[in-house]
Amino acid sequence: MKIRKNDNVMAISGKDRGKTGKVLHVFPKTNKVVIEGINIRKKHSRPKKQGQKGQIIQVSAPMDASNVMLVCSSCNKPRRAGYKVFSAEGGNKRTRICKKCGSEI
Ligand SMILES: [Zn+2]
Repeated sequence: MKIRKNDNVMAISGKDRGKTGKVLHVFPKTNKVVIEGINIRKKHSRPKKQGQKGQIIQVSAPMDASNVMLVCSSCNKPRRAGYKVFSAEGGNKRTRICKKCGSEI
């Protein structure tokens, strides 16, 4: 999966289509991501003590990584990402690049 934590991504399907947010968690095994402010679910919490009120907490639910696109910080648009391989000390390394402008994302 090309998406990493703290990436800026845009939702491309679902009710939050077109919204952007920061990646908070990545689950490579299930190919899911949690994005700040996207795919919000309401959770109801019961009062724990007497006299306390139950609350509704809004949390971002995991969504499929195929439903989000990386946002290139140079073009400021959702872009497909590619990899560029370069040789460095200790062997080849790869960096993730924007397929449109070629800058690192
Ligand atoms: Zn770009």
